Amino acid sequence: MSRYWSSLVHSLTPYVPGEQPKLSNLVKLNTNENPYPPSPRAVAAMRQEIGNDGASLRLYPDPNADSLKQAVVRHFAEFALTPAHVFVGGNGSDEVLAHVFMALLKHEQPILLPDISYSFYPVYCGLYGIDSVTIPLDDRFAIRVEDYVRDNGGIVIANPNAPTGHLLPLGDIERLVTANRRSVVVIDEAYIDFGGETALGLVNRFPNLLVARTLSKSHALAGLRVGYAVGDPALIEALERVKNSFNSYPLDRMAIAGATEALADREYLEKTRQAVMRGRAALAASLQGLGFDVLPSAANFIFVRHPQRDAAELAAQLRQHGIIVRHFRQTRINQHIRITIGTDAQCERLVAALKEILQSDSNNL
Ligand SMILES: *Cc1c(COP(=O)(O)O)cnc(C)c1O
Repeated sequence: MSRYWSSLVHSLTPYVPGEQPKLSNLVKLNTNENPYPPSPRAVAAMRQEIGNDGASLRLYPDPNADSLKQAVVRHFAEFALTPAHVFVGGNGSDEVLAHVFMALLKHEQPILLPDISYSFYPVYCGLYGIDSVTIPLDDRFAIRVEDYVRDNGGIVIANPNAPTGHLLPLGDIERLVTANRRSVVVIDEAYIDFGGETALGLVNRFPNLLVARTLSKSHALAGLRVGYAVGDPALIEALERVKNSFNSYPLDRMAIAGATEALADREYLEKTRQAVMRGRAALAASLQGLGFDVLPSAANFIFVRHPQRDAAELAAQLRQHGIIVRHFRQTRINQHIRITIGTDAQCERLVAALKEILQSDSNNL
C-alpha cells in the first residue's frame, strides 16, 4: 500500500495465475498447457521470421496482423467469415477478453457470470468498474439457460467451463443468444477443440454473439500469447477502437508468424487434440478406479474429488511427489482438484503417486 496509489489500485483484487515452477523436473499439470509441442510448421515459421541476423525485428510488425486474420478465416472456412469478423490480440485471449469487457460489457445493467467459472472475469469487472451478478450453476455444475433470461449488461460464459470441464451443448448456446438479443453474449472457447461444438457457426446469425479463442491450449502456444475473437463486424470494430487506444502493436512478428502457421496446420491440431482426448479418457478411468469422482470433461483437464480425502491436502501430497495440480480455495469447489491432461508418461506418474498417497492411511476425512 502506498499513498501514491490511485483509489482504483487500492480496490483491485488481481488474478492469481497457477504456479510456473522454476524447478524443471516437476510434472506440471496445473495450468492446462498442452503436453505436446506446437506444430513444427509454426516453429519453422517463427525461425524464418527472425532469420539468421534478426534484421526483421528492426521493424514494427503489421499493426492489423492481416495474415493472422486471414488464417482464422481460412481455418473456419465452413462458417463463411471475413477478416471484418475477426479481432486478433496479443498477450493471449486474456488481453482480448480485457478489451471485450471494456468495449462491450460496461453498461448500466450488471453483467451475468456463473458462480464457478474462469476467475479472471470478476477481476476485469473490478478493473473496469463493471457490476456483475453471480448466477449459481446447478448441482452438477451445469448452466441452466433459464437463469440467464433476465435483464443484463452482458453475459460471459466459458464453454467448456473452467475449472469444471463441463460442456454446454450448442443448442443451449443458441437459446441463450436468442433470448438475449439486447446485450452481448461472450462465449470463451479456450478449450472447445478438446471435444465441444463451436458457436462460430452462429456468428453470422446473431449480431450479439462474440466468441473468444486462444492458441494457448489446443495449439500448444501458451508461451507465445495469442488470442482472437470472432463476431459481427460492429462488435469487432468496438474491440479495434479499444485496442488502438491502448497499443497499436499487440502482436509481435514472431507471434503473427507462428500463430498464422499453427492455424494453417490442421493435421497437427487434429493429431494432438485426439491424443489429449485419448489421454483424458484413460486418466479418468484410472482415477475412477482409485475411487475418485470424475466430472465429465470436454476440456484438456479433469475436475475430480475423492470422497475420503481432503483436496488441499491431496494437492500438497502430490507436490511432495513432484507433481503439481490446481486446487481452488473457493466455496463449492474446495474439495476438488483440477488436473491437466499430460503425456501418457506424466499421467502414469500421477496415478502411481495417487495410489501411494491413498494407501497411506493418514489424512482420512
Ligand atoms: C487459459 C484460458 C484463457 C486465456 O488464455 P490465454 O493464454 O490468455 O489466451 C481464457 N479463458 C479461459 C477459460 C482459460 O482457461
